Amino acid sequence: MIEVNALTKRYGEVTAVADVSFRCEPGTVTGFLGPNGAGKSTTLRMICGLTPPTSGDARVLGVPYRRIANPGRHVGVMLDASAQHPGRTGRETLALAARLLGVDAGRAEEMLRKVGLPENAVRRRVGGYSLGMRQRLGIAQALLGDPRVLILDEPANGLDPEGIHWMRTLLRDFADRGGTVLLSSHLLREVEAVADRFVVIAGGRIVAQGTRGELLSAR
Ligand code: ADP
Ligand code: ADP
Repeated sequence: MIEVNALTKRYGEVTAVADVSFRCEPGTVTGFLGPNGAGKSTTLRMICGLTPPTSGDARVLGVPYRRIANPGRHVGVMLDASAQHPGRTGRETLALAARLLGVDAGRAEEMLRKVGLPENAVRRRVGGYSLGMRQRLGIAQALLGDPRVLILDEPANGLDPEGIHWMRTLLRDFADRGGTVLLSSHLLREVEAVADRFVVIAGGRIVAQGTRGELLSAR
């Protein structure tokens, strides 16, 4: 599970994230919704220990992310699919990630198939991939260590409707097996069909959170 307690991040005069608190439970998909610049990426980076908070803290599986031993075996993270090394092929990208995680190459091949990247794509360099293909590769990498938690920043960006449907099925299945999913989006329609709970952020602050029913009845 994920626990976020009063996370705040200031960059000089700019408050990117202000007093953000929420929890994500096993078996649920939480949609982290807000417009561009709302503070989603900054929050996810703080949860994953990549950006130090100004104040507040976050725990994943009960501890700060940086204290998890071999985190990729427990938490699958995809924060920026466009940051993958352009010079490696999809297959090389996952093979390298598998070696770093200590999982076997067969698992990497299995994950490439699971995310629907065909053989002619995995043999090509990532620099020639569409954003949607990069998202699929990023999800394959996030799933590599058989994690219990998935943290994904805008994973639907660049996916076509079929891709969004595929991702929805994959994340729903992951949660239905007891996994915890946190995914951000700036578009309600990308997450409304998959998320059990929503956390809505604007201007760095939580403006609403709850189940679909709770949010609809609060209107
Ligand atoms: P989102 O992911 O919702 O689009 P971000 O978390 O990327 O939002 O950004 C929230 C706010 O914080 C924005 O105003 C952004 O410009 C600002 N911000 C993010 N990172 C930095 C940084 N490294 N330095 C200064 N400002 C930043
Ligand atoms: P996203 O929309 O995915 O959050 P951004 O384009 O907002 O991506 O940010 C990309 C990178 O630039 C991030 O590492 C973020 O921290 C940094 N960044 C964003 N806004 C600013 C800013 N105003 N000043 C400095 N760095 C920033």
